[in-house]
Amino acid sequence: MTSPYLIAISPLDETLLRRLDTAGYRLTEPRKMLLRLITSGRDRFTAADLWEAVQREAPGLGRATVFRTLDLLSELGILQRVHFDDASCHSYVVCGRSHHHHLVCGNCGRVIDFEQSEVEELLHRLTDRLGFQIESHHLEVYGRCKNCKA
Ligand SMILES: [Zn+2]
Ligand SMILES: [Zn+2]
Ligand SMILES: [Zn+2]
Repeated sequence: MTSPYLIAISPLDETLLRRLDTAGYRLTEPRKMLLRLITSGRDRFTAADLWEAVQREAPGLGRATVFRTLDLLSELGILQRVHFDDASCHSYVVCGRSHHHHLVCGNCGRVIDFEQSEVEELLHRLTDRLGFQIESHHLEVYGRCKNCKA
């Protein structure tokens, strides 16, 4: 029997699916469907955007499942919440790869990933001095991207 959500999974999704699997979560059809939706759309989306897409593309999925999966994917770092100063308040971006930070354009809403080992070193040096042990951190830098600056 074919699943109603049977869909072609792109290479990016394969990586994300494997991360879910490695973390010990079953690759259920609803989870696969949601991963497909979040990776096929815009590079950022709100919970309301996703819920709208689900109602259109996969009306069989319940609201609780969708929101629980959003939380799970955020916990696993597959999604990251990014704060925006607009009506959406915060959006999610897909962050499939290793630890990195975000440059957020306040004009066009683009989210650019960046990694800089100096940032990590600096944070550890500063917090060591205060006797504080870092467990995790998110860094979002707000401004204007190259295109919007011009
Ligand atoms: Zn990211
Ligand atoms: Zn911009
Ligand atoms: Zn960092």
